[in-house]
Amino acid sequence: LDGAYDEANVFALILQGKIPSTKLYEDEHTYAFLDIQPQSKGHSLVISKWSRARNILEVEDEALAQVMATVKKVATATRKALNPDGIHVAQFNGAPAGQTVYHLHFHIVPRWAGGPTGF
Ligand code: 5GP
Repeated sequence: LDGAYDEANVFALILQGKIPSTKLYEDEHTYAFLDIQPQSKGHSLVISKWSRARNILEVEDEALAQVMATVKKVATATRKALNPDGIHVAQFNGAPAGQTVYHLHFHIVPRWAGGPTGF
């Protein structure tokens, strides 16, 4: 859970436009895009554009509020677009918890009855 923010992590490179991504939503402070290895159709990620928090333990309250407002917007749009039966909002801290990218992010994963629960 300790460590320095890596300026060259994959989400930092996405924010800089150095790695392409499929944008779902963007505002002044946040960015939402499709996960490259989706757990289900419409699996997306939401990140802060300015916070250098690696995880929930480090994030500024302001950045967290901005990100969560976008999580709600994207979850609402995902429901409208795909009509899932459920939606996971998930966030991992540290490798033993499954974290692989060390720029704080929230997963939004549509779920359908009879499909995998995931995580
Ligand atoms: P974590 O396990 O750290 O919570 O999730 C990292 C997520 O980022 C994974 O679901 C993974 O598929 C996604 N991911 C990793 N590299 C890329 C990338 O280059 N582009 C996109 N769109 N997603 C990525």
